[in-house]
Amino acid sequence: MAAAKLSQHFAKTDINITVVESTAIGTVGVGEATIPTLRRFYQSLGMSDMDVMRKTSATVKLGIEFKNWHRLNTSFIHPFGIFGHEANGIRFHHYWLKLQALGDASLLEEYSLGIAMARANKFTFPAENPSSPLSVFDWALHFDASKFATLMRDYALAHRVQHIDAKIESIQLNPDNGFIQSLLLDSQEPLAGDLFIDCTGFNGLLISGALKTGYVDWSQWLLCDRALAVQSEVVGEPAVRTVSLAHTAGWQWKIPLQHRQGNGHVYSSQFMDEAEAEAILLQHTEGKVLHQPRKFSFTAGRRTQAWNKNCIAIGLAAGFLEPLESTSIALIETGIEKICGSFPIPYFNQERVDYFNQVTATEWERIRDFIILHYKANQRTDSDFWQHCRAMQLPDSLQQKISAYQERGDLLHYPWEIFHPDSWLAIYSGFGFYPNTYNHNVDRLNTDYLRQSLAAMRKSIADAVAGLPTHQEFINEHCKVQAA
Ligand SMILES: Cc1cc2nc3c(=O)[nH]c(=O)nc-3n(C[C@H](O)[C@H](O)[C@H](O)COP(=O)(O)OP(=O)(O)OC[C@H]3O[C@@H](n4cnc5c(N)ncnc54)[C@H](O)[C@@H]3O)c2cc1C
Repeated sequence: MAAAKLSQHFAKTDINITVVESTAIGTVGVGEATIPTLRRFYQSLGMSDMDVMRKTSATVKLGIEFKNWHRLNTSFIHPFGIFGHEANGIRFHHYWLKLQALGDASLLEEYSLGIAMARANKFTFPAENPSSPLSVFDWALHFDASKFATLMRDYALAHRVQHIDAKIESIQLNPDNGFIQSLLLDSQEPLAGDLFIDCTGFNGLLISGALKTGYVDWSQWLLCDRALAVQSEVVGEPAVRTVSLAHTAGWQWKIPLQHRQGNGHVYSSQFMDEAEAEAILLQHTEGKVLHQPRKFSFTAGRRTQAWNKNCIAIGLAAGFLEPLESTSIALIETGIEKICGSFPIPYFNQERVDYFNQVTATEWERIRDFIILHYKANQRTDSDFWQHCRAMQLPDSLQQKISAYQERGDLLHYPWEIFHPDSWLAIYSGFGFYPNTYNHNVDRLNTDYLRQSLAAMRKSIADAVAGLPTHQEFINEHCKVQAA
């Protein structure tokens, strides 16, 4: 992804880009759920949604369904879209909260088109006309990440990027300033460069191995440190949402592709051993499993500096946040975007490096806080893990956000935050967490009129969804992968 985008960014310069990767080592081989930013990323390279979907065996993702997170036998959805409509500069949930205070029984999710479509397993393209009821949602992909990597490689190779399949054996530093001077490969002469993008995965061969950059450890808040992943045969129609099923010491993802389903159990080794985690994963995997579960260990956190000297870490080399909200690939995109923004001219100075690091740290912390909220807000009483999560002390940045919501119903949106206020609202309300009050400016609106407006909104959503094709019908018509 970095080579593809940077080849486009530097197309009119004489900069040479070389990718070194080792087929002998391979890639991490997981990462199948995305958020809508991925679509903007490939669109910026001139690729169309349907073409990418066909080439990556993709299905549509309208959001994530969280099962058993709030309590056992509960379900809520975090959609890519809004709840209701803001009016008179006041967010919708304040109007809804007022009616709730008057005894109205409608659920907040009845005002989300994205959720209604996800629950009905239906899909169509969002309407371009903003007054259409079908304009208020966004969507992303569940895809085969290896096939997407092939698309990126083909693009890069067609745009002057050199490719070397070799193993990096060691890294030479400049003795004067400690910058990376060259990579020693198993197959060739040393490969020199001015700037190195470290995409070597969890090991961070350059950023950590060579430059000894530190790591900010967030495991006091994010206890999950293991994952087991397994693919299975498709059973039934693909869901138009990722399913995240909470277990006693973590959670399981279910990600449908056209040709198979991805499943994985993310758990805390402090609270569960591997054998139990594997048994739970297999017990909750529908369809025949296609291989032995693959194992991963990680520590939630980020590099202290994503950009150190002449090396920028992207992807797993930059840090790890569990895939609960499918944010790793999105952080790759924003990292690449920031690299492009750092090079309006092909030189850099320390000021640019510092700015890059500051923004990167902020972006990661915002996502960290959002993920922590999912754990903190649980009301499960059936396991030590969930009780431990509920009791944890929060980072100040998250505590301030929660207080603003609880005390005033405010949904703060900080700079560099990927998730918008409606995403926060989806999680708060999914956990049954509502503010103590609403914005009393809504009292200016006649209550009967408010009731009628909200009823009309619910009806418009239900009517719009009733006429839509199913997810499978949509795939069959627009992007079905043909059997070879
Ligand atoms: C369990 C799990 C589930 C995930 N789920 C999601 C998800 O649903 N959504 C999401 O957005 N993200 C997810 N991720 C994250 C996602 O998988 C990664 O962000 C993404 O795959 C990018 O990985 P990467 O390129 O940084 O590392 P890798 O895929 O590990 O690639 C590293 C590359 O470096 C090369 N390399 C390493 N060492 C050397 C060497 N010595 N010499 C030469 N080459 C070398 C390798 O050959 C490889 O090409 C998940 C991650 C995990 C662990």
